[in-house]
Amino acid sequence: MTQQANNATLEKPSVFAMASQQFNSAADRLGLDDGIRAVLGSCKREFTVNFPVKMDSGATQVFTGHRVQHNVFRGPAKGGLRYHPDVTLDEVKALAMWMTWKCAITNIPYGGGKGGVTCNPKLMSRAELERLTRRFATEISPLIGTVSDIPAPDVNTDGQIMAWIMDTISMHSGYTQHGIVTGKPISIGGTLGRTEATGRGVMLMAREAAKERGLPLEGARVVVQGYGNVGYWGVYLLEQLGCKIIAASDSRGAIYVEQGLEPESLLSHKTDNGSVLDYPGSQTITDAELLEMPCEILIPAALEQQITEENAPRIDTQIIVEGANGPTTPEADDIFQDRGVIVIPDILANAGGVVVSYFEWVQDIQHLFWDKSDVDNRLESIITRSFDEVLSTAKEHDVNLRTAALMVGVERVANALNIRGVYP
Ligand code: GLU
Repeated sequence: MTQQANNATLEKPSVFAMASQQFNSAADRLGLDDGIRAVLGSCKREFTVNFPVKMDSGATQVFTGHRVQHNVFRGPAKGGLRYHPDVTLDEVKALAMWMTWKCAITNIPYGGGKGGVTCNPKLMSRAELERLTRRFATEISPLIGTVSDIPAPDVNTDGQIMAWIMDTISMHSGYTQHGIVTGKPISIGGTLGRTEATGRGVMLMAREAAKERGLPLEGARVVVQGYGNVGYWGVYLLEQLGCKIIAASDSRGAIYVEQGLEPESLLSHKTDNGSVLDYPGSQTITDAELLEMPCEILIPAALEQQITEENAPRIDTQIIVEGANGPTTPEADDIFQDRGVIVIPDILANAGGVVVSYFEWVQDIQHLFWDKSDVDNRLESIITRSFDEVLSTAKEHDVNLRTAALMVGVERVANALNIRGVYP
């Protein structure tokens, strides 16, 4: 191994090890038996594919992708697909495990899955992305299906990519299969309210946590790391509740606007210029400065392991709402617990996306579509109920919200295993 590779390995600790550490602390609290702990602690299926794609230059390039099903005791595997240069099997396994708990906490009838392709979609043309997506969908077609495993958007994937997957699988079968993916465009069986669903869940969680803390939302300062779908919709909806959005970032840099930025105009600025940088009236700051900016609500909505024992002591906020999956390490969690910072964990905070995915799948199967108010009202009732259940578990067992959320989710999956039994 080269020195460089060695350093890289040291810098990025295993994400699956982190997810396992979180799971084990909840399993300890629940007094889970060793056998059940071993089953729930491992992924049921790990599928890796190496596949060729014709690039625009005429050259053929081989890409690596994965689809992992962590658990299917409570229903089909469910979870997104991400396209990113840092995608690894280790990361996909962790993300799949988190999906299992997320679906159990919200009590929707799914297990957990996740997938991804190691690639940089920002350097690919639309035609290359379409060919990559159609070939990857074909490669994972032995696993995915309306009753077995249902992908959805995640980092750098969207409704168009879901449409190509749905079309590819439908071409293979010879008939249209609406329910094979969620997060589709509305014209081909998507649901109203899915695009903003994860951000709506983030807003609802921030609202509930602020209520619990006695923090008025009017004038509350919000900082968001990541200005993709989750970050944008989260702060857009929080601004409507009176919050002041003072800093935002994307993969290219971070900005600060003392008097508060306007979420929609920042989005059009980013769409036009490729980044939040140089937003009129803003000051450029570093990503470290963004995370440590004094605020009332911090929303990490980018990637994993952004908040660690190194920067947690300097993070100056009251409530952290994890729009991203896995942004906070267990060591940082302990620091926040000691300091009294409320951390709404990813498996609760960003569950709005998969909940509305579930609504989309139900509508697809029934061929009966709902009004937007039905979607939003049902989402709000599931999210607030889940928050209340996790909060009362945290109070009852004197644990933080992450451990409480895991206890609720893990216990439901363990019950499903106990009732179904081990085959044969
Ligand atoms: N990728 C999203 C998540 O991490 C949504 C998954 C889904 O809708 O299936 O929760």
